[in-house]
Amino acid sequence: MVWANGEFANMIGYGDMGVLIGENIQIVYKDEQDCLEFGTQVLSTLVEGRISVTERILYRKDRSPFWCRITAKAVEASDISKGSIWIFDDISERRDAEIELKKAKEQAETANRAKSEFLANMSHEIRTPMNAILGFSQILDEKCTLCPQNLDYTQGILTGGKNLLRLIDDILDLSKVEVGRIVIQNEPVNPCSLVKEIQQIFKFKVQEKGLKLNINIPSDSTILVLLDETRLRQILFNLVGNAVKFTKTGDITISLLSNINEQQRSIDLTFEVSDTGIGIPINQQGNIFEPFRQRKTQEPNQQKGTGLGLAISKKLIEIMNGTISLKSEEGEGATFTVNLPNVEISTISLDLSKIKREIFLPEIKFENAKILHVEDVLSNRQVVKAYLESYDLNIVGAINGEEALSIIQKVKFDLILMDIDMPVMNGFEASKNIRTNPKYKNIPILALTVSSAKSDIEQILKYCDEYMKKPILKYELISNIAKYLPNTIIEDSKKGTKHLAKEKSFDEKIEAFEKDNSKSIKLALKNRLGALYEEIKYSYSMDETEEFAKQAIKFGEENKIELITEYGKKLLSASENFNFKRIEELVDLYPKIV
Ligand code: ADP
Repeated sequence: MVWANGEFANMIGYGDMGVLIGENIQIVYKDEQDCLEFGTQVLSTLVEGRISVTERILYRKDRSPFWCRITAKAVEASDISKGSIWIFDDISERRDAEIELKKAKEQAETANRAKSEFLANMSHEIRTPMNAILGFSQILDEKCTLCPQNLDYTQGILTGGKNLLRLIDDILDLSKVEVGRIVIQNEPVNPCSLVKEIQQIFKFKVQEKGLKLNINIPSDSTILVLLDETRLRQILFNLVGNAVKFTKTGDITISLLSNINEQQRSIDLTFEVSDTGIGIPINQQGNIFEPFRQRKTQEPNQQKGTGLGLAISKKLIEIMNGTISLKSEEGEGATFTVNLPNVEISTISLDLSKIKREIFLPEIKFENAKILHVEDVLSNRQVVKAYLESYDLNIVGAINGEEALSIIQKVKFDLILMDIDMPVMNGFEASKNIRTNPKYKNIPILALTVSSAKSDIEQILKYCDEYMKKPILKYELISNIAKYLPNTIIEDSKKGTKHLAKEKSFDEKIEAFEKDNSKSIKLALKNRLGALYEEIKYSYSMDETEEFAKQAIKFGEENKIELITEYGKKLLSASENFNFKRIEELVDLYPKIV
């Protein structure tokens, strides 16, 4: 060192610059090699006539390390033989702050993940007891038909239970997105049809409130794109649901704009949902997409939601590489815009055969059979037992996979109901064991699971014949068991014909109805239910469907037509259980009857 200032001497713990002059600069480095390597690196920059700036650790006189920014420059252009100027800045404080900040950020992220994991696990845990609550109330509900007051109570439990389940599903969804557990499953979707479907779904809600629901879709409405239909429907359902909820007068418009990109391989899609409702004040727009945030001055009867819909939608849109934005002013309505850029255009057309239809479930009698129910939670075993109690089936319980494997060695079973999440040995392991053992491999295994992840289901179906998602419904359990165990359809109290396919019996009932009933009855039925049927044909409005079902029951009872009463009851139960598939199936059957 030929010269250094006092500050530098202080910084490296020498105090007096006089001591430093003539010292080897090596004293501030880790060792000789560190000094040489760094020196060579800096000098190679200086000979190119450039300034060298590096942040690295240096050492004080007492060998304590500190962070330093070292700036070096040749005294004359690129000629280092004339000497170089070195500037050392102690940047320890900034570095420490950066490290602290990074640590804090990591901690916050870990905490947030832990929270989401916790919520995801909690929601999962809550679903299990919900299975008992919903299951038993459904059973009580069936047994309470003679006492209307108790019926009110059980239906209260059922409705409350279902609402709670929906809230849990929302929380589960949000936390799953947050910990990256939601996998987007793209399939060919027609976005125009989806918009039309949403319009149908909300048709009655909108009419009820005296609003108008318009749609604007591109003229070429046949294009298929690769998107996750379920998630996209969830997003639009939420946005349109909000628009209806927060609009008292005027209209709601769903618009779809599309722009095909070069080479026709992808398309930019924009979904816009606008309303003429209460709007959102500008200062609240920033946090409306955060969980549990709602507009501050909401009317009490409007505060029905959970405040999770927009948060979930935003996260889902982001995983689809899209964005959502809001334009609104207090009292001036709101427009939510979802942009999905570069969506791949599908080269395959829709595979209609994929759409599975479930069979209609009539009164059924099983031949005596033995069922092993493997489930660790007692209340879940009780629910299944209660569901099956009126059938001629023997149910034996096992509390985990290991116990199940030992029981099947002693008793011969006709069917196994297998829970998947269990301690000791889970249902997946147990099923694998059973399937790979030639002695037991033919016993049908129906899996019961709380998971709906595609990967879990694929795994399950490797070794099990069916899977049912908890909480399971009675009809679902029975119709699945009926696919594997011999059963008899009860036509009337005396005779029964053996069937494995159950649709026939309903067809026969319809045939009988056609034969036995006069044209005037059918006309009366058409007059009574026709208009309602037209309304629910394409819509899934729960209220309308329930009304339709109730009218059918009433008509059946008034005219003593059992088929119609039974039909109405089944539809009512399906709509109370939000069983959309079943509703659709029953609604499709109506034209057959009339
Ligand atoms: P929820 O509707 O269940 O409360 P969301 O996350 O879907 O939850 O919406 C959060 C809040 O954003 C709503 O409670 C409401 O205050 C406001 N909001 C959403 N959409 C609209 C809209 N179209 N008009 C006015 N306010 C809206």
